[in-house]
Amino acid sequence: AAAAEKELENPLKPPVEIKYTKLLINGEFVDSKSGKTFATHDPRTEEVIAHLSEGDAVDIDIAVKAARKAFDEGPWPRMPAYERVNILNRFADLLEKHSEELAALDAWDSGKPYEQALYGEMPGVVRNFKYFAGWADKIHGRTIPTDSGHFAYTLHEPVGVCGQIIPWNFPMVMFAWKVAPALACGNTVVLKTAEQTPLSALRAGALALEAGIPPGVLNIVSGYGETAGAALTHHMDVDKVAFTGSTEVGKKILQAAGKSNLKKVTLELGGKSPFIVCEGADVDKAVELSHFALFFNQGECCCAGSRTFVHEKVYDEFVEKAKERAVKRVVGDPFKSGVEQGPQVDKEQFNKILGYIKSGQEQGARLLTGGSRLGSKGYYIQPTVFADVQDHHQIFNEEIFGPVQSVTKFSGIDEVIKRANRTQFGLAAGIFSNDVNEINTISRGLRAGTVWVNTYNIYDTSLPFGGYKQSGLGREKGIYALENYTEVKTVVMPMINPAW
Ligand code: NAD
Repeated sequence: AAAAEKELENPLKPPVEIKYTKLLINGEFVDSKSGKTFATHDPRTEEVIAHLSEGDAVDIDIAVKAARKAFDEGPWPRMPAYERVNILNRFADLLEKHSEELAALDAWDSGKPYEQALYGEMPGVVRNFKYFAGWADKIHGRTIPTDSGHFAYTLHEPVGVCGQIIPWNFPMVMFAWKVAPALACGNTVVLKTAEQTPLSALRAGALALEAGIPPGVLNIVSGYGETAGAALTHHMDVDKVAFTGSTEVGKKILQAAGKSNLKKVTLELGGKSPFIVCEGADVDKAVELSHFALFFNQGECCCAGSRTFVHEKVYDEFVEKAKERAVKRVVGDPFKSGVEQGPQVDKEQFNKILGYIKSGQEQGARLLTGGSRLGSKGYYIQPTVFADVQDHHQIFNEEIFGPVQSVTKFSGIDEVIKRANRTQFGLAAGIFSNDVNEINTISRGLRAGTVWVNTYNIYDTSLPFGGYKQSGLGREKGIYALENYTEVKTVVMPMINPAW
């Protein structure tokens, strides 16, 4: 704690210059039509980093028109697919070359540790573009036999103009998960970044132009959700929307699609993922993994293992060691080497998390460590651990999105499966066990889009990712992502054509 406070007094200057603050529309960086700007803040100091052009419905409409023209008339969907492969690979190479700059922008804007952004996230961003570049010339339909003797085949064509709305917790990773498959399939994009973290995507957008992605193919509009975001989801000329963020906004997006042109929608939403520590588990290893599952990225993870279920036989030892581990967590300036946890992204999240901590205490959960802010400047929160959390506690049901671990006791496999599934969410889950029967029973029993066994937060580009229940619609990444960005056209003709 003392080290962190010292860092707060002397924040290191991020090693990066901000080059792009305007909207990227039709291959050019332009001011918003209204001339309005908004500020993005440094969560370490609460001070303004930069003022950016603020896009609203008018700018979204201009961007959608540019994307439409690029799709209807431009080379992108028409060029030999191999050219798209080359351009996307070039883009990936440029992202790699500028990894330090992009990681620094993300760390500065969001508060995540710079080393995590650089070594843990940017390689995945680059790999994402290479992976989908690899698919770009391997997207094809089938020749299908028919009862009627007709010759029939399918074409997998791009959907068209894709609106993409991303959150602030992993700005560059979300950029890659959304943009790479859309472009690989030949679509054009209007991306709305999160108002808290607009910097890195604009820099990446400039690199996309440098790589040879034609004007209008990738448009980036910074701005707020209720204005720019809502305009994108209601737009009559957007063919598809992909969204990552809260379940609350996800519902609005589906409604907007229904109220407008029934655009296709994929949603990656919130979670309240269980992490289950079974009775034969090595407690030290289970503590370390469950700690990582929850505290990674300041706890600002849709997949955070935010309900830690621990078998009664190892519960007391686990709780004691989970507390010790949280106490040791290195919190401080994200630009300082070795820091595990930076500040939360903004004041709203900071206050929300502190509110949840208060509710945990009021409802009778046992606070083992943490529980308040760290220092007096910046959005730093002490790593917090609650034990004896009960199923009805608010902290056990709602997404906290912060460094707050909630530990509860269980005594049997059937019980823990039932309790783990008793949630509106179904994004991910973790199991820690050395018993294969236990692993198989629990992993089959859980209603979740990803189950990590004896590991956590593994996000290979090839693995599909998405949620059951109110955690989302559809799957991103891997071969499954291609379905989100292609339409299937069935072409049928007689074997012997009467017209000839
Ligand atoms: P949010 O859902 O409001 O924001 C996500 C994105 O959606 C942002 O780009 C935002 O501008 C945009 N948006 C907001 N309202 C919109 C609207 N009406 N129409 C279209 N777009 C809109 O999330 P938040 O307010 O930043 O965070 C609130 C909570 O959401 C967090 O505490 C956390 O629980 C959850 N969250 C989840 C994820 C995730 O990865 N699943 C990411 C961020 C936040």
